[in-house]
Amino acid sequence: MARALVAVVGSGPAGFYTAATLLRSEELDVHVDMIEKLPTPWGLVRSGVAPDHPKIKTVSVAFARTADHERFRFCGNVEVGRDVTRAELLERYDAVVYSIGAQSDNHLGIPGDDLPGSIASTAFVGWYNGHPEFRDLAPDLNVERAVVIGAGNVALDVARMLITDMAELDTTDTADHALDVLRASKVKEVVIVARRGPLQGAFTTPELSELPDLEGVDIVLNPADFEGIDPADITAGGHTVRTNMEALHRLLNDHPPTGKPRRMVFRFAHSPIALHAGPDGRVASIELGSNDLVADDSGYVRAVDNGARETLECGLVVRAVGYRALPLPDVPFDEKRAVIPNEDGRVIGGDREYVAGWIKRGPSGVIGTNRKDGQQSAEAALADLVKAGVDRSEADIAAVGEFLRERSSQLVTEADWRVIDGVEVGAGKPTGRPRVKLCTVEELLAAARG
Ligand code: FAD
Ligand code: NAP
Repeated sequence: MARALVAVVGSGPAGFYTAATLLRSEELDVHVDMIEKLPTPWGLVRSGVAPDHPKIKTVSVAFARTADHERFRFCGNVEVGRDVTRAELLERYDAVVYSIGAQSDNHLGIPGDDLPGSIASTAFVGWYNGHPEFRDLAPDLNVERAVVIGAGNVALDVARMLITDMAELDTTDTADHALDVLRASKVKEVVIVARRGPLQGAFTTPELSELPDLEGVDIVLNPADFEGIDPADITAGGHTVRTNMEALHRLLNDHPPTGKPRRMVFRFAHSPIALHAGPDGRVASIELGSNDLVADDSGYVRAVDNGARETLECGLVVRAVGYRALPLPDVPFDEKRAVIPNEDGRVIGGDREYVAGWIKRGPSGVIGTNRKDGQQSAEAALADLVKAGVDRSEADIAAVGEFLRERSSQLVTEADWRVIDGVEVGAGKPTGRPRVKLCTVEELLAAARG
């Protein structure tokens, strides 16, 4: 069978699902080089998924199976745009798939957004998950109240991490530096500020349903937020809206606050207006504006400022209002949507280039959403490769491997990653943790070299 050599840039779920489809082709022997900027694979499965949700991370078993394939090479610690250019990839590979996710975040665009004590969920999540770029964030948790802006699952993850009992976190793979800070945390209350109502929350139901299990935490909802909701709107909202509303009603009716030591408070229909600094220059309070919820002609419900204001003292604000992708040098980028423009995975204006995952469709969807998405992109690439009649020699494929080795001072191969993995998992065993993460590039490389 003819051989093709494909670069998959980024080793998150989208990269792995794309690679799996490429490797399964019955028309071509596709060789896959997965190029990853970090020394570790799995993208947000390692550095996004909350540590108290270990089952979700077991999807990495399927990724490891793909990585075991004889035609797969992991090329970690190589950043496209820094260590290797787009042109160099296109010179050497028959096709290039970008699955680089969304590496940045949306801003609130309000006064005080950039004060010390106001941080992005990308940074906070990366910090507690041991992402090397956020190792040194050092959030100040010497505060009684934290505010999380946003009504999505990331907001819930962040709120849980701030308020979860340490006994529960101690058995997780939360980064050690974060466990130290969380252990000394003074946070007693986390307020989740949602600009629209309960019906419009972007949460998913299992994440709401598990909240009563949080040891020592009252979940506080305002019954007024649920008054006047038309049952027809719940039905019209579809399955997730209905089950979310059931979960929220259970929280409201079956789990009223009982004076537990910590609280998670939901404030619906409120928007942040400004963050104010205290004498030390750090966030000391947040000004919230109250919203009316107004449906437009299409039925979309907007948050409209009704002018009412209140100020809430708080020492930490985490904005969880969505991730945002960054462009790759020389690769087409749609600034408005923050995606690489594409048609069913083929990059518009590209040259044998494809795109998968969050960089293809925007920063939404769970891990499984990337499976179909990656398959679609891989199938587009396969069809084009077959049509172009590509065939590569084994010597050629080996030479490209050498090129990447020259480009990264310390390339991390799949075998190197397995060594790192073994070190981390081994370090967790004595205390019953899934792993103890190494959180700097230097530590990871040192572990790989034994
Ligand atoms: P990513 O997972 O972000 O992978 C992108 C990869 O590309 C990264 O490894 C990155 O380092 C690499 N990369 C970036 N730039 C370069 C470059 N220039 N060169 C080389 N490599 C590069 N879904 C669930 O189903 N369950 C959950 O519990 C869950 N929790 C989540 C928690 C958080 C905080 C977030 C943000 C998302 C969560 N999701 C969850 C959603 C899920 O993680 C995403 O759907 C999925 O990770 C997106 O996959 P991706 O491959 O597009 O991006
Ligand atoms: P998201 O689901 O898109 O939620 C973003 C939230 O931010 C929305 O509530 C949005 O409100 C709000 N928002 C946006 N701009 C705002 C602003 N300027 N002011 C106030 N609020 C604002 O994004 P996410 O939470 O980052 O999650 C990304 C994806 O990962 C989602 O698909 C999510 O389900 C997934 N994920 C899954 C899990 C899990 O399965 N456990 C965990 C984490 C993440 P509006 O609706 O009003 O715009």
